[in-house]
Parts: sequence; structure tokens; C-alpha cells
Amino acid sequence: MDGGPLSNMHARDVEALLHPYTNAVAHRSVGPHTIERGEGVYVYDSEGRKLLEGMAGLWCAGLGFHDEELIEAAREQLGRLPYYHLFAGRSFEPAVELAEKLKELAPVPMSKIFYQSSGSEANDTQIKMAWYYNNALGRPEKKKIISRVKGYHGVTVFSASLTGLPYNHKDFDLPVSDRVKHVATPHHWRGAHPGETEAEFAARLAADLDAFIEAEGPETVAAFIAEPVMGAGGVIVPPEGYFEAIMPVLRKHDVLMIDDEVICGFGRTGNWFGATTLGMTPTSISMAKQLTSAYVPLSAVAINAEMAEAIEQNSHKIGLFGHGFTYGGHPLGCAVAIKTIEIYQRRDIVGHVRKVAPLFQKRLRDHAGHPLVGEARGVGLMGALEVSPDREKAATFAQPGKVGAKLSAEMLSRGVIGRAIGDSFAFCPPMVITEEQIEEMFAPLEASLDATL
Ligand code: PLP
Repeated sequence: MDGGPLSNMHARDVEALLHPYTNAVAHRSVGPHTIERGEGVYVYDSEGRKLLEGMAGLWCAGLGFHDEELIEAAREQLGRLPYYHLFAGRSFEPAVELAEKLKELAPVPMSKIFYQSSGSEANDTQIKMAWYYNNALGRPEKKKIISRVKGYHGVTVFSASLTGLPYNHKDFDLPVSDRVKHVATPHHWRGAHPGETEAEFAARLAADLDAFIEAEGPETVAAFIAEPVMGAGGVIVPPEGYFEAIMPVLRKHDVLMIDDEVICGFGRTGNWFGATTLGMTPTSISMAKQLTSAYVPLSAVAINAEMAEAIEQNSHKIGLFGHGFTYGGHPLGCAVAIKTIEIYQRRDIVGHVRKVAPLFQKRLRDHAGHPLVGEARGVGLMGALEVSPDREKAATFAQPGKVGAKLSAEMLSRGVIGRAIGDSFAFCPPMVITEEQIEEMFAPLEASLDATL
């Protein structure tokens, strides 16, 4: 390969690309890690190494990295209608069929589906709809959105403002202060008072939320947005009874519950939606990632009948609903999503996740006693280890992220891709992973932890 395009990937990459979530200066010397192809739960890099993709890419390739049926569905759709849109009343069969399917699968009754291409766009759409809805109801003051510290909702200007992670805000000058409010992370290990049970912690967070909304003025609060399980914040599973305690507070103050299922949707937690697993009752839902097994970018927002009615009536008053993306509901995305869902149903992917999740969670928790590990946590086929210098005190390292990054490098050198999130190390493999492959994924963890210590 001397002189060929792959041998000088390092030089070409650092010349041409600005990488997301990458230290651009360090990257110049480290260079790219080039992935060439995929097969099942594995990807192959440019050095010919076979790597178990323990993160399904970015929590998204639910069916793994080579599915002939999805490829065929894409080819077929491209041959028939490669592009069309839904503006001004235009329509096409796959967009309608997928919307019907999503309504059928939704954890609570939903009325209408609106399409975008990404999770960030879905959450931006959610906020615009919440504002439009309250304007339609004659409540122009009711506009604040409550999110949570460590919640992840995307990177567009507004979705990044919802995201509760410092590096998504720092130096971006986002409009976070007036309309977005962040409340506490529901993380029992870090946030509970000494001796406080999960249920007591959940009740306290709900009472705090109630007091917070009262202090802001309920007439100014439009919505609460939450992932059933926080993903990019470090796979934080809320304490038992959390959403059950939160929901009455939101209902009392007439606050919308925006369910961000971008990671949790389509089986990841052992139900079709994380809302079912975690006891949330959404008024609207954001879906993306595993919606198409990540083969094609597509996201969907589902809204309930009350929102749909108000939004539709307001569009009539104004003359149209002035929101929509060129690629929203792209026929290719819809066709691949329909096939993805059909495969999930035919192969009973939810049943499979439930079957293999106990082994996944056990093998993760087998390492909870390692001297470097503060907490092992997760649900379904998502989980994380958080490293800590003192488990009892839930202490953090002086240089956050360094130990997590070392652990990530140790795992990679042993053939497994996971994701370092600060001092947490996450696993979220393709949902088709077998029990043997789960064993294979966790096999190098002990040695990697020892080498990191
Ligand atoms: N919401 C959640 C819960 C996510 O995890 C992500 C991405 O990881 C997003 C929204 C943003 O999605 P995208 O990267 O497709 O814009």
C-alpha cells in the first residue's frame, strides 16, 4: 500500500478534517483511528485489527455493522424514489407507513409524527413545538424548559443549551440562561444524602423540582426534557421511582414531558421505549439512532393529541406550520427505518435484549469491587463503570477524564471499543450481540483496569 491513499491517511486526515469531540491539536500527532468495514458486532480498522464495537458506534447501530436486508431496502428505495419531501402537503408511502408504525409502537398514545434527520434537530423541533403550542393556547409566558445537569440532548444552538455538560457550553456563547434551567442529576451514588434510599432520593428530587417550578412561576415553565436513562452523561440510571415521582409534579403545573428516546428507544433498555422501563409518561417523544439502526440519518418527533390539535389549529390561523427540513422524512431514511423495525419485530429484538441483558449487567458488575471502580451501573444493554479514587465518598480524580481515557486505550489495545465519558467508561453494544460476544467484550476488562491502576 506504499504511497496509496490509506498509507497517508494520517497526513490527509489532519490536513482536511476538524473532528467532533476531539482535541484538534493533540490529534495532529496522534492521528486518526481509521475504520474500514464492519461485520456483525465487529469493525475492522486499517491495520487489519478486528474490534468488538462495544458502543454500536455512537449508541446507534442496533443491528450491527452489516445487514443485507437493510442494504437491499435502501437500494430498492433509491431505485424507486430517491428523494422527496413533505412540504406543502406533498407525501409518499414510506413516510406515512413509518409514522403509522411509530404511533403503533409508542409507549403512550401519540397522534402525529414529524421528521428530521438527527437527534439534535428532533429536540430543537420539540422546543419550537412546545413554544408554538403555548402561543396557540394563549400562554405566551409559558416558555422555560427544564433540563438536567449531565443530560444530553444534542449540539445545535438550542439542543446544546438543553444539554447539561460543561464542554458543550464552554466558549460557545449559548442562550442558556433565560429559557433553559438545569436541575439536579438523578444519580443516587453521587447525589444521595448519607443513608438516603433510592426511593427517598427520588422523592426529594421531585419535591425540589416542585419547589423550583413554584419559584420560577409555573405560568413561565413549558416543558421538562429528559432521557429515560442518561446516556452521554455517563449511563446514569435514575433511582427507583424517579419518573413516577416527577410525573405528578409536571401534571400539577401543566408542564410538558419531553421524552428524549434518542438512545433508549427501540429496545435498548429491554422495552421498545425507555419510558416503559423507567416509568415515564411522555407528552412527546424524540427518536433517532436505532430508528434506522443508524444506517441512514433519520429522526422523528411524536406528539400527543392535545399538542397536535393546538399546533394544527394555530397553523390554520397563521396560514401554515412554518417549520421543516429539506431532508425531514427522507424516503431513504423512512424505507430503512421501516425495514429496521420489521427486523426488530421478526427477530424479537426486545426479547433478545431481555434474554442477554442479565449476563451483560452481571459481567459489568463483576468489576464493581475493583479498586479503581467507584460504581458499575446500567440497564438493558447499556452500562458504565465509573472510576473513582474513593468509592465510599464518590470522589473524583484531580484530573477528570484522564483515567477514563487510559482505560479506553487499554480496552482498545485488547480489541474492544467502549467510550470514555469523563471518568465513566460506557458499553452499549449492537443489540444483536450474543452471550458469547458479551463474554468476549468483558474478558479484557479486568486486565485493562489493572493496567490503568
Ligand atoms: N439526544 C440524546 C439522548 C443523544 O444521546 C443524542 C446523541 O448522542 C442526541 C440527542 C443528539 O443526536 P444527534 O447527534 O443525532 O444530533
